[in-house]
Amino acid sequence: MSRSIRLAVIPGDGIGPEVVAQGLKVLGAVLPSDVKLDTRPYDLGARRWHATGETLPDAELDSLKDHDAILLGAIGDPSVPSGVLERGLLLKLRFAFDHYVNLRPSKLFPNTPTPLAGRPDIDFVVVREGTEGPYTGNGGSLRTGTPHEVATEVSVNTAYGVERVVRDAYERARSRPRKRLTLVHKTNVLVHAGQLWKSVFDRVGAEYPDVTTDYLHVDAATIFFVTQPERFDVIVTDNLFGDILTDLAAAVTGGIGLAASGNINPAGAFPSMFEPVHGSAPDIAGTGKADPTATVLSVALLLRHLGYEAEAVRVERAVAADLAERTGKTRTTDATGDALAARAAG
Ligand code: ATP
Ligand code: MG
Repeated sequence: MSRSIRLAVIPGDGIGPEVVAQGLKVLGAVLPSDVKLDTRPYDLGARRWHATGETLPDAELDSLKDHDAILLGAIGDPSVPSGVLERGLLLKLRFAFDHYVNLRPSKLFPNTPTPLAGRPDIDFVVVREGTEGPYTGNGGSLRTGTPHEVATEVSVNTAYGVERVVRDAYERARSRPRKRLTLVHKTNVLVHAGQLWKSVFDRVGAEYPDVTTDYLHVDAATIFFVTQPERFDVIVTDNLFGDILTDLAAAVTGGIGLAASGNINPAGAFPSMFEPVHGSAPDIAGTGKADPTATVLSVALLLRHLGYEAEAVRVERAVAADLAERTGKTRTTDATGDALAARAAG
C-alpha cells in the first residue's frame, strides 16, 4: 500500500526556519519508507509583510486547505506592529480552519530543569478552546482616548463551541490510563459563561462514566500547577485561561524550548497545524542556539494526529533519551536535530 502525507510548511520568522528544518529532518527519519512525504513551503510572516504588505492572502489560505497538516515554525518580529501578524495570519488561519482544539501536552522529562522541588511526576495535557472566549474580536471602545473611555472585550461562549471542545477532552481523557478530566474556569465570577461551561461539562460527562471529573477555579489551578501538578491528567478550559495556564505549565516542565502544541480541527474537515509554543526569538536567530526540541515534539503530535502512533512514540522516546543525556553543554540547533533524527530512526 502506498501512503502519502501532504504537508504544508510555514517556517516563518526568526528561529522558525531553523527549528522547522530539524522537525522535517526527524519526520523524514521516522516515516516508514512506503510513505511519501510531499512538503510545500509557504513564505509567510514578517519578511513577507515587509516586502508586500500581505499577511495571508486568500489564495494561499485556499491552497493550504489542500494538505493533510501544517507545520509552523514561528511568526513575528518586533519590526511589525503588534497584532498585524497575530490577527492577519495566525488568528485568521485558526478561525478559517476551525482549529477549535488547542492541544498542549506538558510532561516533565528526566534530566530537564524544573523550578519545582522534588521533581513531581508531571504528565498532563491541556485542551484549550481555540475559537471563542475573548478572542473573537467582539467589543469596542467608546469615547476613545478621553479620560472617559470605556473599552469592552466580549467573551463569546456558545453551547455548540463549548460542547465540541468538552467532548474532545472527554475522548482524550478516556484514551489515557488515568482517565481524569478537570474543568478549569471561574464560574464564581464569570457566571454566565461559567454556567454554560459547567452545565455542558456535567451533561456530556454523563456519557463518560469511566472518566473521573473535577472542577477548579482558574486561580486555584495556578496554585496546583506549582504545588501538585501530578494531580492533573487532562484539563479542559476556555481560550484565555488556557493561554495563560499553558505558559505556566511550560515554565514548570523544562521551559519554552520543550513546549509543543497542536491547533486541531478534530473532525478533519481542515488541516490541523502543529507548532512549538515559543515565538520567533529574534534575539538568538541565526546563532544556532535555538533548541529544536519543541518543534520535534510538535512533529510527534502531528504524526499521532495523522494516525502514525508508533512513529509518534518513537519521536517522543528519542526526545526523552536525548534529554536524559544532555549535559548542559550547548549543542547547535542542527546537531540536536541530527541527534534526535538518528535516535528516532534507530
Ligand atoms: P512571541 O511574541 O512570538 O511569543 P516572545 O519574544 O514573547 O515572542 P519567544 O520568541 O518565545 O517569546 O522568546 C522568549 C525567550 O525565550 C527569548 O529570550 C528566546 O531567546 C528564548 N527562546 C525561545 N524559543 C527558544 C528556543 N527554541 N531555544 C532557545 N531559546 C528560546
Ligand atoms: Mg510570547
